[in-house]
Amino acid sequence: MGRMEHLARELMVRPGSRIKLADIDPGDTHGVRKPDAEERLAKNRDRLSVLQYLLYAEARRALLVVLQGIDAGGKDGTIQHVMSGLNPQGVKVTAFKVPEGAEKRHDYLWRVHQAVPERGQIGIFNRSHYEDVLVVRVHGLVPKPVWKKRYQQINGFERMLSENDVRIVKFLLYIDKKEQARRFHERLDDKTKNWKFSPADVQEREYWDQYMRAYEEMLRKCSTEGAPWYVIPANKKWFRNLAVSQILCGELEAMKLKYPKPAADLSGIKFE
Ligand code: AMP
Ligand code: MG
Repeated sequence: MGRMEHLARELMVRPGSRIKLADIDPGDTHGVRKPDAEERLAKNRDRLSVLQYLLYAEARRALLVVLQGIDAGGKDGTIQHVMSGLNPQGVKVTAFKVPEGAEKRHDYLWRVHQAVPERGQIGIFNRSHYEDVLVVRVHGLVPKPVWKKRYQQINGFERMLSENDVRIVKFLLYIDKKEQARRFHERLDDKTKNWKFSPADVQEREYWDQYMRAYEEMLRKCSTEGAPWYVIPANKKWFRNLAVSQILCGELEAMKLKYPKPAADLSGIKFE
């Protein structure tokens, strides 16, 4: 089990460091065996549920979890398998799609700020404001001088949040092109998964290398003390789930959550 204690440190992107995704093996399991991972995931889910209860009771701070990754990278699966023990009352998942309506008429952080969890809550972003330096950059949806400035804008936004009681943890789910092909085939072959397949995803695959470059710049510029990025080798779903759950437990534990003091002295209270 010893290896698992070091996962967070091994997977975190140190602020300012220059990650080359090609140097990371998406199939890496950091010396962890599958049966051990499954056992630990079950424990982590229970632990997360206890920690969430504390976060909710304390009601002073919030946790924001950001999930990014290429199509079929496992964002939905991670939410399903890692967060399934959470109390629905204290968690909200927000999926960010192509901006429409009022979203388009505002700055790109407008919709994001509204979805930031309130104190006591866990917020999960399935995609996020990082799309505005990913898909937007890859497809040139705004001019380069516009998206270039966004790295610092995002850091400023996240710093403001972290200085106002929102702990931010960001995960890049990293699979390789072969694994994406395997998952697309599964979506095509399995009738119950057809709905997940979008022909546009196949076109998007053509831009793989551009996405990797965009991820690298995002990791280099936007992994900070208050809002670190973690790169999760995600070819193996069991390892991905273990790693994310392990890091989230560690982050919540580091917050040293405490039950609030009772509003009054409870010792003298009597009733029939
Ligand atoms: P999915 O997550 O598969 O439901 O797809 C959502 C789609 O919305 C993806 O293709 C994203 O790239 C796209 N998307 C999300 N945010 C933005 C954004 N800010 N600008 C443009 N496209 C976006
Ligand atoms: Mg999709």
